[in-house]
Amino acid sequence: MRKLIVLILIFICSLWVTSYHRTPAETGLNVILITLDTTRPDHLGFYGYERSTTPNIDRIADEVVVFTDAVSVIPLTTPSHASIMTGLHPESHQINRNSHPVDKSFVMMAEVLRKAGYSTGGFVSVKLVGSKIGFAQGFDFFSDSNPPGTKSDKPGDGSSNRSSRGDHTSSILVRRGDHTVWESLEWLKANIDKKFFLWVHLYDPHLPYEPPEEYGLKYNPRYNDYLKTIRNPGYREHDFADNPELEGKEPGPTGTKPMRRAEKFFKKFFGVDLNFLIQPAGNVNPDKVQDFISAYDGEISFDDAILDGIFQLVKEEKKFDNTIIIIMGDHGEILYEKKDYFGHHKYLYQGSIKIPLIMKIPGIHPVTIDRTITNVDILLTLLDALEIKHKLKMDGVSYWPLISKNKNITAPEYRIIFTNTGKIPDIEKPPNVTNKRSPRTVLKWVKLAVENRLSKIVDKRFKKRRWKIDDHFQKIAIIKGEWKLVRTAKTSEKKEYKYELYNLKSDKQEQEDLYMEETIVVRELEADLKKYLKRKRKVAVPEAESKQSEAQRAQELKELKSLGYVQ
Ligand SMILES: [Zn+2]
Repeated sequence: MRKLIVLILIFICSLWVTSYHRTPAETGLNVILITLDTTRPDHLGFYGYERSTTPNIDRIADEVVVFTDAVSVIPLTTPSHASIMTGLHPESHQINRNSHPVDKSFVMMAEVLRKAGYSTGGFVSVKLVGSKIGFAQGFDFFSDSNPPGTKSDKPGDGSSNRSSRGDHTSSILVRRGDHTVWESLEWLKANIDKKFFLWVHLYDPHLPYEPPEEYGLKYNPRYNDYLKTIRNPGYREHDFADNPELEGKEPGPTGTKPMRRAEKFFKKFFGVDLNFLIQPAGNVNPDKVQDFISAYDGEISFDDAILDGIFQLVKEEKKFDNTIIIIMGDHGEILYEKKDYFGHHKYLYQGSIKIPLIMKIPGIHPVTIDRTITNVDILLTLLDALEIKHKLKMDGVSYWPLISKNKNITAPEYRIIFTNTGKIPDIEKPPNVTNKRSPRTVLKWVKLAVENRLSKIVDKRFKKRRWKIDDHFQKIAIIKGEWKLVRTAKTSEKKEYKYELYNLKSDKQEQEDLYMEETIVVRELEADLKKYLKRKRKVAVPEAESKQSEAQRAQELKELKSLGYVQ
């Protein structure tokens, strides 16, 4: 009996041991993670873009591991960054939209590194990945806005769209990248002799594309005219984003309140899109599309220029050879090549989901890797590169054996990608899965399991609506080999799922939907997708009250609207 009690005590004690710890094998390398919001790989110099947008990153890219097929599992800023930082897939961290807070129970990259003795500093450019959303977890110093008193975050004045998204105080939602980098340099200088982890997030290439004049003019001599039009009070970002031809008009019929109401009315009751009637399809001025793309490239070029400050400092301080640098995107951007659309969150086409990813790792020779890798795989790969032992539960795969020894790795047979169409579902759930195995988490699991069971009984009796992966994510894609199948959620108008199938090898632009022709491929991918979703549905969480108050939710919606995410 005594033996049994001792064994139980040992078992309980072992639960209290933290799930990750320092080991003598740790490399002592510093880490810099740079996440470039909304940046498409094919618009960067080192990925072969015709414009030299990124001369500074290109110089580093000569000596790094370049991934040619990196993909974001969700083209939305908050969920994508949550996947980068936790190594969890969206259905695990259950963040399906922007501004949904990351639960404290998740272990994030900075927490692991801080435990391993790193000084940690995080500097972000939009509050979608700010401290209120939970991204400050594990950082000794974290900043998501300019210090109070900073007048403007954009050149010129408050008339620019982006500066009007905040109030030019510390509560500003978006800040220009040079402010973020400047602040990060101050922190880096103070911590350069310690073992450090620095995260810098830049938001500049996000809509509206408004680089500082020097960078706007770099690719478009008419840049100032373009700026005038997008700052026109009649300009509506969504119309503009979806149809550049609407832009540039004086506040006319589509800009007036009654007309907007009429649009809504016609759309709701007759299914007629008045915008479409006013602006016949196919009447797009290609010059205007090019103006947008040039401004987008200017934003990327601006980010490249400001990032050089970080590279130079690390070189001057002789830390370059002792620092891992990861530069990656959180999602891409469709630049009007599909659906007459500028943006990323509405669709799962390659423009939205492909991301740049390079890793400079001391001691590793430059290599190009064509295997598909996702943002979920970053944390595991990094921890292996740093030789940090842990017992974290993640959805990703470590690419370290492939990077360091060219050893084959077992990556998933297929990849599942999610998005929402811009509409925010009113499903509010606490996350139910965490990657930490502390006693508190175990207790939480037990509590959730009991609640889950009870809620199932309640559901059965009262037919209460339950969390469903299919509702949580309105578009779901499966990529297997050269094929990609995209499924659109059922809506009240469309009772059936709608599918599209593309061959990513022979049709990189996804021009030809082969859903009707390739029935055998469709059947296989549909079966895989169904199996995956069925497996994931089993981890359904209990119905629970939103943690956010009405006021918080209203404020959040207001902020998302100002960033162009809610219509
Ligand atoms: Zn983003």
